[in-house]
Amino acid sequence: MALGAMQHWLLRVTSLIDHAEREHPTREIVSAWADGSVTRTNWQEVARNARRMAQALEAGGVGRGERVATLAMNHARHLTAWYGACGMGGVVHTINPRLFPDQLTYIVNHAEDRVLLYDALFAPLVEKMKPHWPTIETYACFDPPAGWSGDVAFEEWLAPFDGDYRWAEGDERDPCGLCYTSGTTGNPKGVLYEHRSTILHAMAEVSPDVMGLSARSVALPIVPMFHANAWGLPWAAPIAGCKLVLSADYRPERMCALFRDEGVTHSAGVPTVWIEMIAFIERTGADLGPLEQVVIGGSAAPRAMIEWLRARGIAVGHAWGMTETSPIGTIGAPPANWGEMDEAAQVAFISRQGRVPFGVELRIVDDEGRVLPRDGEASGRLQIRGPWVVQRYFKAEEDAVDADGWFDTGDVAILHPDGTMQITDRSKDVIKSGGEWISSIELENAALGFPGVLEAAAIGIAHPKWDERPLLCVVRKPGAEVCPDALRAHLAGQVAKWWLPDAIEFVDDLPHTATGKISKKQLRERFTGYAFAGTEAMTGRD
Ligand code: AMP
Repeated sequence: MALGAMQHWLLRVTSLIDHAEREHPTREIVSAWADGSVTRTNWQEVARNARRMAQALEAGGVGRGERVATLAMNHARHLTAWYGACGMGGVVHTINPRLFPDQLTYIVNHAEDRVLLYDALFAPLVEKMKPHWPTIETYACFDPPAGWSGDVAFEEWLAPFDGDYRWAEGDERDPCGLCYTSGTTGNPKGVLYEHRSTILHAMAEVSPDVMGLSARSVALPIVPMFHANAWGLPWAAPIAGCKLVLSADYRPERMCALFRDEGVTHSAGVPTVWIEMIAFIERTGADLGPLEQVVIGGSAAPRAMIEWLRARGIAVGHAWGMTETSPIGTIGAPPANWGEMDEAAQVAFISRQGRVPFGVELRIVDDEGRVLPRDGEASGRLQIRGPWVVQRYFKAEEDAVDADGWFDTGDVAILHPDGTMQITDRSKDVIKSGGEWISSIELENAALGFPGVLEAAAIGIAHPKWDERPLLCVVRKPGAEVCPDALRAHLAGQVAKWWLPDAIEFVDDLPHTATGKISKKQLRERFTGYAFAGTEAMTGRD
């Protein structure tokens, strides 16, 4: 059959920056730097500097498809570097500076990075790692302080180039981004984003039931650009032409000042970020300015957090996703009957992880791979497919999906008849008691609703009779007292009796992963050999 007769317009990320440059040239990009200073640029300047950077890369001999790495927090130069690297046909590899040195050695060598652009903050790390990174030929520092004698400054590196450059042409399925997952076992795995997958994801992201971005929005991602591309916001923002506020500093006092001074309407971050923000605001009485909507994801958003934000008139979008899903998989946009739901029903709805936007599909399966019903009761392994979901990890020999394209997320979830998805656990973290599963997320959520509880994590401890029983680890708010019996009584009102933890341990802190999630693996290690009163210590799983 003959093709249709419409234009073959390739979906390449350069069209994002071209659009913003043409249609929203003076809309601001604000950078809040770690030293406290603030600088301003706009889409037009970012586009021009990205073309200069593409010239610098070509002059440096970087070829199409080769990797240009960044080790940096959020700021406009980092944004420029993304579009510059993709614009010359390269691939931006965003490195998480919180990874361990052996992981950093592995991923840079696996990616065969040719260039590294980094923040001065990470200069000591870069100097230490240089001998282990033989593929990198060019280093440049985004923000050298006065008196710097290290690698070339980013702006100096661009200085010889005039920006008279035509973006590289290529296929829409060419790679444009690379992000490694900080997997808990084995080597990190690289997810290689494409121009097309990135654009489709960005188009979905701006839509009303996802992030709802418009030319009037002012977006401040409190999620680093190395964590699943700051959840895609630097790609989505130019579509809407919104103002972007990028901060290298996530301290709550800085965030609140930016919310107010820059008129931030949309923000996004992991729960730990909001825990700190809420504690700060409660302590100081600071306000959130004109903030309208926050997206919370990366770990389950506790109910108490959702209620706190809603009480201040802020809509909460609870999102679930993974590096492998670009990252948006689901988000809790209000359904058609929202207006008929009371406060409790709305909060219960948002506490789940939301529904899929057009483009991705979800299902749950049992251990034999049989598809389970969307009945709000069956719980199984969550699988996802769609054009912005990984097909195969970078340089892997085999696909990461089954013959029908389903990617197994490693999460355990329930699908509800209204289309919402509810994560009950990471499959590695489920607590198996007497042949049944206890949802650590539900337990933690219930604990976080108790006054004085700052953070909570439930893990399974080996038990002679039940296989495993839950141990609840609690961090108290500064200066707060928490009576274990009262907490237990509170939990008893929220979860099934057999889910109640066999013990509650108060701890000073909980271990976090490189992306701010509670590390259950490390927590289990901390409690290796732990025994509930009246039982003997048994060998755990890890
Ligand atoms: P990462 O690729 O590092 O962003 O991690 C992805 C994983 O984070 C998912 O597979 C989930 O286990 C977890 N995750 C992300 N969002 C949520 C959420 N809203 N609720 C519970 N877990 C989440």
